[in-house]
Amino acid sequence: MKPAIRKLRPTLAVAANHRCGYCQTQEVVSGIPLTVEHLLPRAQGGKDEEENLWLSCRLCNEAKSGQTQAPDPQTGQIVPLFNPRTQQWSVHFAWSEDGTIILGLTPHGRATVYALDLNSEFRVRSRVLWVEIGKHPPD
Ligand SMILES: [Zn+2]
Repeated sequence: MKPAIRKLRPTLAVAANHRCGYCQTQEVVSGIPLTVEHLLPRAQGGKDEEENLWLSCRLCNEAKSGQTQAPDPQTGQIVPLFNPRTQQWSVHFAWSEDGTIILGLTPHGRATVYALDLNSEFRVRSRVLWVEIGKHPPD
Protein backbone atom coordinates (compact mmCIF):
# COMPACT_ATOMS: atom_id res chain seq x y z
CA MET A 1 0.00 0.00 0.00
CA LYS A 2 1.34 3.42 -0.94
CA PRO A 3 2.21 5.62 2.08
CA ALA A 4 -0.35 8.25 1.01
CA ILE A 5 -3.09 5.63 0.95
CA ARG A 6 -1.92 4.03 4.20
CA LYS A 7 -2.17 7.42 5.86
CA LEU A 8 -5.79 7.81 4.69
CA ARG A 9 -6.90 4.32 5.70
CA PRO A 10 -8.03 5.17 9.28
CA THR A 11 -10.15 8.05 7.97
CA LEU A 12 -11.63 5.82 5.27
CA ALA A 13 -12.36 3.07 7.81
CA VAL A 14 -14.36 5.45 10.00
CA ALA A 15 -16.24 6.88 7.00
CA ALA A 16 -17.03 3.35 5.78
CA ASN A 17 -17.96 2.19 9.27
CA HIS A 18 -15.39 -0.63 8.91
CA ARG A 19 -17.56 -2.30 6.27
CA CYS A 20 -17.20 -3.12 2.60
CA GLY A 21 -18.89 -0.33 0.65
CA TYR A 22 -20.60 -2.84 -1.63
CA CYS A 23 -21.54 -6.03 0.25
CA GLN A 24 -21.42 -4.48 3.74
CA THR A 25 -19.19 -7.24 5.07
CA GLN A 26 -17.88 -6.12 8.43
CA GLU A 27 -14.15 -6.32 8.97
CA VAL A 28 -14.67 -7.61 12.52
CA VAL A 29 -16.83 -10.52 11.31
CA SER A 30 -14.76 -11.60 8.32
CA GLY A 31 -11.44 -11.37 10.14
CA ILE A 32 -9.85 -10.18 6.90
CA PRO A 33 -8.72 -6.56 6.60
CA LEU A 34 -10.75 -4.58 4.09
CA THR A 35 -8.80 -3.18 1.15
CA VAL A 36 -8.63 0.40 0.03
CA GLU A 37 -10.33 0.57 -3.33
CA HIS A 38 -10.26 3.18 -6.06
CA LEU A 39 -13.78 4.22 -7.07
CA LEU A 40 -12.42 5.31 -10.43
CA PRO A 41 -9.69 2.77 -11.18
CA ARG A 42 -6.14 4.06 -11.43
CA ALA A 43 -6.00 2.67 -14.98
CA GLN A 44 -8.78 5.12 -15.89
CA GLY A 45 -7.07 8.09 -14.27
CA GLY A 46 -8.37 7.59 -10.73
CA LYS A 47 -6.19 9.32 -8.16
CA ASP A 48 -4.91 8.18 -4.76
CA GLU A 49 -7.02 10.87 -3.12
CA GLU A 50 -9.60 10.53 -0.39
CA GLU A 51 -12.51 11.46 -2.71
CA ASN A 52 -11.60 8.52 -4.95
CA LEU A 53 -11.07 5.95 -2.21
CA TRP A 54 -13.34 3.75 -0.11
CA LEU A 55 -13.07 0.41 1.67
CA SER A 56 -14.11 -2.85 0.11
CA CYS A 57 -13.65 -6.51 0.82
CA ARG A 58 -11.24 -8.45 -1.32
CA LEU A 59 -14.03 -10.29 -3.14
CA CYS A 60 -15.75 -7.07 -4.18
CA ASN A 61 -12.49 -5.37 -5.06
CA GLU A 62 -11.42 -8.25 -7.30
CA ALA A 63 -14.85 -8.60 -8.90
CA LYS A 64 -15.09 -4.86 -9.56
CA SER A 65 -11.58 -4.72 -10.98
CA GLY A 66 -11.62 -2.02 -13.69
CA GLN A 67 -15.40 -1.85 -14.00
CA THR A 68 -17.24 1.41 -13.44
CA GLN A 69 -20.50 0.43 -15.11
CA ALA A 70 -22.48 -2.71 -15.87
CA PRO A 71 -25.83 -3.75 -17.29
CA ASP A 72 -28.92 -3.55 -15.12
CA PRO A 73 -30.06 -7.19 -15.39
CA GLN A 74 -33.69 -6.05 -15.40
CA THR A 75 -33.44 -3.76 -18.43
CA GLY A 76 -30.08 -4.50 -20.02
CA GLN A 77 -29.24 -0.80 -19.85
CA ILE A 78 -25.60 -0.01 -18.99
CA VAL A 79 -25.49 2.08 -15.82
CA PRO A 80 -22.76 3.28 -13.44
CA LEU A 81 -21.98 0.95 -10.56
CA PHE A 82 -23.04 1.97 -7.07
CA ASN A 83 -20.67 4.55 -5.56
CA PRO A 84 -20.34 3.99 -1.80
CA ARG A 85 -18.90 7.47 -1.28
CA THR A 86 -21.62 9.47 -3.01
CA GLN A 87 -24.63 7.15 -2.84
CA GLN A 88 -26.46 5.67 0.16
CA TRP A 89 -26.44 1.88 0.39
CA SER A 90 -29.98 1.57 1.75
CA VAL A 91 -31.39 3.52 -1.18
CA HIS A 92 -29.93 1.10 -3.71
CA PHE A 93 -29.92 -2.21 -1.83
CA ALA A 94 -31.81 -4.13 0.80
CA TRP A 95 -31.31 -7.43 2.60
CA SER A 96 -33.58 -10.37 1.97
CA GLU A 97 -35.83 -11.19 4.92
CA ASP A 98 -33.35 -13.76 6.25
CA GLY A 99 -30.47 -11.31 5.87
CA THR A 100 -28.37 -13.40 3.50
CA ILE A 101 -29.15 -12.02 0.02
CA ILE A 102 -28.52 -8.50 -1.23
CA LEU A 103 -31.41 -7.21 -3.31
CA GLY A 104 -30.78 -4.48 -5.87
CA LEU A 105 -33.50 -1.83 -5.59
CA THR A 106 -32.38 0.52 -8.36
CA PRO A 107 -30.56 0.15 -11.70
CA HIS A 108 -27.26 1.00 -9.91
CA GLY A 109 -28.00 -1.52 -7.18
CA ARG A 110 -29.02 -4.32 -9.54
CA ALA A 111 -26.04 -3.72 -11.84
CA THR A 112 -23.69 -3.81 -8.85
CA VAL A 113 -25.19 -7.01 -7.42
CA TYR A 114 -24.69 -8.58 -10.83
CA ALA A 115 -21.24 -7.19 -11.68
CA LEU A 116 -19.69 -7.84 -8.27
CA ASP A 117 -21.47 -11.19 -7.78
CA LEU A 118 -22.64 -10.00 -4.35
CA ASN A 119 -24.70 -13.13 -3.74
CA SER A 120 -22.16 -15.79 -4.67
CA GLU A 121 -22.52 -19.14 -2.94
CA PHE A 122 -19.50 -18.52 -0.68
CA ARG A 123 -20.73 -15.12 0.40
CA VAL A 124 -24.22 -16.36 1.20
CA ARG A 125 -22.83 -19.32 3.12
CA SER A 126 -20.81 -16.96 5.34
CA ARG A 127 -23.80 -14.69 5.86
CA VAL A 128 -25.89 -17.63 7.05
CA LEU A 129 -23.31 -18.21 9.80
CA TRP A 130 -23.06 -14.51 10.64
CA VAL A 131 -26.87 -14.31 10.96
CA GLU A 132 -26.81 -17.35 13.27
CA ILE A 133 -24.40 -15.65 15.65
CA GLY A 134 -26.35 -12.40 15.57
CA LYS A 135 -23.69 -10.38 13.72
CA HIS A 136 -25.49 -9.83 10.43
CA PRO A 137 -26.91 -7.90 8.70
CA PRO A 138 -25.08 -4.85 10.06
CA ASP A 139 -27.25 -2.05 11.48
ZN1 LIG B 1 -17.63 -6.68 -0.36
